[in-house]
Amino acid sequence: MTAPGAGPPDALASAIAPGEAAAAASRATRFADAARPALADTRLRRTLGAAVAAERDRAAAAAAEPADWEELREAGRALRDAALLDLDTHLESLERAVTGAGGTVHWAADAAEARRIVVGLVRATGARDVLQAPSATVREAGLPGALARAGVTVRPAGLGDLIVGLGEEAPSHLSSPALHRDRAQVRELFLRGLPGAPADLSDDPADLAGAARAHLRDRFTGARVAVTGAAFLAADTGTAVLTESGGEGRMCLTLPGTLITVAGIDKVVPSWTDLEVLLQLLPRASSGDRMTPYVSAWTGVHPGDGPREFHLVLLDNGRTRALADEVGRAALRCIRCSACLNVCPVYERTGGGPYGPVLPGPVGAMLTPQLRGVESAANASLPFASTLCGACADVCPVKIDIPAILVHLRGTVVESRRARPVPTPELVLMRGLAWTMGDARRYRLAVRRGTRWARLLSRGGRIRRLPGLLGKWTDARDVPAPPARSFRDWQGRR
Ligand code: SF4
Repeated sequence: MTAPGAGPPDALASAIAPGEAAAAASRATRFADAARPALADTRLRRTLGAAVAAERDRAAAAAAEPADWEELREAGRALRDAALLDLDTHLESLERAVTGAGGTVHWAADAAEARRIVVGLVRATGARDVLQAPSATVREAGLPGALARAGVTVRPAGLGDLIVGLGEEAPSHLSSPALHRDRAQVRELFLRGLPGAPADLSDDPADLAGAARAHLRDRFTGARVAVTGAAFLAADTGTAVLTESGGEGRMCLTLPGTLITVAGIDKVVPSWTDLEVLLQLLPRASSGDRMTPYVSAWTGVHPGDGPREFHLVLLDNGRTRALADEVGRAALRCIRCSACLNVCPVYERTGGGPYGPVLPGPVGAMLTPQLRGVESAANASLPFASTLCGACADVCPVKIDIPAILVHLRGTVVESRRARPVPTPELVLMRGLAWTMGDARRYRLAVRRGTRWARLLSRGGRIRRLPGLLGKWTDARDVPAPPARSFRDWQGRR
């Protein structure tokens, strides 16, 4: 068993950095290419399919319970919009309230500044290791890697983060980071890398949780510094709120002497009382619970109780840019409930990896390109990682019209490509089509010739492989051969 606070030297603790590297590699790849390994992995698809179906059913049952669910959703939407519309005022109130309660507020324009601030704060304490509560914002800022490079050992405090750290991969789900792993795989990972895991460990969930608990408890008792995220920040009281099902975040809030909370500026709500609505919406949409098992709220510091130092790092990192986009800004309403992931037919088949390391599923497809821009091919591919079926918008507790935002972002991607000196093959193809369809005679000729070629390519009434760029379509599906006579032909001869 590991000595309190010491931990192993440090295959496990530093495992989060390779995980970050794997995630960065997948982020550098277009979604369709990054998704290929997952699509070929039947075990992964089976595990994911069963897990999201269970979450989906629980959430649907929980949403059907309150008679005023639709009114609650509308209230959530209005409240998040009001917060975003007056964000600068609320942020200033928040800073005053946090400072008045004995905390310190730091402003980070981007991830690099957040890393500089947090590494500096940890160094100032002299601690050689930090506890890290599960947080997408902490990952977004690249803090685990930055701290590891600064010689600080980062110890993930959450069970899901522990599992994905052992697997050297990125979390695949917002609320259940290891959703893509079945219990036999978790047992193998624990036997391979979890210090103190008994050799006869079974794959019974209670045994696995027990082994993880024994390991994590040791970490909590010796920690001097913790880094967390926050689900919400109440501007009027300066209160940060963390919601979780496992309680590991609460251990991070209460035991270490220094608490560093990193949160996006979009997490602000004007008033503590706004949480009445949001804390009803979040658990039902997320996991189908009537109440989140652990809701922790902290305001500054209190002598003799909890951390002696509290630092709040407010991260922009593209949020101001997203806010300036009249259509895209609705994405900032997101309360990270995961409901859209659980109903998305694309996420169900690919898991979270292909979306990049921070935000998986539809929320990642609409937010990552806004926060990071669409210059890279990987980010530009995300708005296209959707069937636009609308299931996500139907379940979103704050009524974000995700398909509308994705369509808007697709337009942004196309516009950004138009400005390139050398047009993309897709743009050349589209210009050719526009030219052909711009004249009735050209169009008729193209249809006649195209039909002839397509019928030559077909076998048994189906075309299995189209040439050139069109081959991307037949990579994943076949196409029915066109009829010998077009409708226009048929109609013209009547
Ligand atoms: S976009 Fe809506 S459904 Fe998806 S995580 Fe955010 S709040 Fe939940």
